[in-house]
Amino acid sequence: MGAGEPTRYDALIVGASLAGCAAATLLARHGLSVALVERSPDPAAYKTVCTHFIQPSAAPTIERLGLVPALEAAGAVRNALDLWTRWGWSHHPGHDVLPHGWSIRRERLDPIVRALAAGTAGVTLLAGWRADGLVHEHGRVAGVRVASREGRERLLRGRLVVAADGRSSTLARLAGMSARTWPNRRLTYFAYFRDLPLATGETGQLWLRDPELAYAFPNDDGLTLVTCWALQRDRAEFAQDAEAAVRARFATLPDGPDLGRGTRVSPWIGRLDMPNVYRRATHAGMALVGDAAQAADPIWGVGCGWALQTAAWLADSAGPALAGDGDLARALEGYARVRRRTLAPHHLAICDYSSGRRFRAPERLLFAAAARDRRVATSVHAYAGRLIPVQRLASPPLLARAALVLAAGRVRGRPQPAAPAPPAGEAPHTPAASRRASGAR
Ligand SMILES: Cc1cc2nc3c(=O)[nH]c(=O)nc-3n(C[C@H](O)[C@H](O)[C@H](O)COP(=O)(O)OP(=O)(O)OC[C@H]3O[C@@H](n4cnc5c(N)ncnc54)[C@H](O)[C@@H]3O)c2cc1C
Repeated sequence: MGAGEPTRYDALIVGASLAGCAAATLLARHGLSVALVERSPDPAAYKTVCTHFIQPSAAPTIERLGLVPALEAAGAVRNALDLWTRWGWSHHPGHDVLPHGWSIRRERLDPIVRALAAGTAGVTLLAGWRADGLVHEHGRVAGVRVASREGRERLLRGRLVVAADGRSSTLARLAGMSARTWPNRRLTYFAYFRDLPLATGETGQLWLRDPELAYAFPNDDGLTLVTCWALQRDRAEFAQDAEAAVRARFATLPDGPDLGRGTRVSPWIGRLDMPNVYRRATHAGMALVGDAAQAADPIWGVGCGWALQTAAWLADSAGPALAGDGDLARALEGYARVRRRTLAPHHLAICDYSSGRRFRAPERLLFAAAARDRRVATSVHAYAGRLIPVQRLASPPLLARAALVLAAGRVRGRPQPAAPAPPAGEAPHTPAASRRASGAR
């Protein structure tokens, strides 16, 4: 940071990852001056521990940011997944029915999003500066103290201070905010493979083995992300030999890829502790976006999308108030309300399942019916993509349809939903056969 650079901004954002860069870009488009403070000095820095399946709920924000051409030029895959439960495959209904998101490695995604922000008129990217203190004025957070690696310190002021600094948010801690947390009884290991064809082709695969999970997701550069989510009780097994533990599980997945055929091109990346975190979206005039506001169990791949979406909601609420001297406090209340209404029910449902519990009766009903009925499958996939709220998935009409589908199957002598899991490796149907049977693509 040069000595001549301003220290007062309309918005001061800490964290130049997905949430911070999206917030900076969209706030600056209101004609505001924005400082974007990032502790990493490297403009190409990226988050390594992420499986980067960006859900379709974030597609409108990605389009609005204008990121699609750059992402697709970098190889981003328009994603979809088929979902396996012990009742068979529930197929994605196709992109003509449900919108897609994107899959792209963070080493490509993060620099693109950061370059967009840094190149937006009004944004000053301050890379290599760590926020380590808050400035309070009249009971409000009015600024941030930042320090360089060489030990230089500056005070920056913002009419709005935004915490986009991730799940263990320093700003939230400095502001004395409490976080509600829920345990996560799963751990994960993942790696990238080349030349690993999937039985579902370009469509990703998600196995809900209840309670373990696994994924295989096509990504940029022809790479397939292979991920295993096991229970904490198996920690020692993974600590001893993660590769063997993952390979043993993939060998028993119905229609799973043969890892022996592909070439692993990355180390195994593990994350053992991923508690769910939820904070208020605003505090003393400060706003929180992305993981700083809430970090939910990553098995459902919602964090990147929610980082972008919360940033957009904040910019939509606070941008006009900051640009037109409107009521910023009221605007922040509006942001907090949208975030709470839209994401809190999803967050609670995710926390509940991260206990490592088995499926409950309504979930068994829906998954069993989704393997046979395209309409139920479409709702299940819309929910997984966070396109509909939990109330729509658990709605009486959908549950009634699922029950009818299963009753009709029973009459025709099909397998029962409550049947015990088939032995590992024996799927009720192959993906291609079950796709034909359920009328999907
Ligand atoms: C194992 C795992 C798998 C995941 N898989 C998926 C997935 O498939 N799909 C998905 O959507 N999400 C996934 N996520 C979640 C996703 O990675 C996060 O939700 C997302 O990165 C949040 O973005 P963010 O911008 O809020 O925070 P982050 O990406 O965490 O960025 C925070 C930024 O703040 C900076 N920073 C922190 N403190 C300071 C400070 N004091 N001063 C200055 N800068 C600071 C950091 O350097 C960083 O750049 C996964 C997470 C995990 C753990």
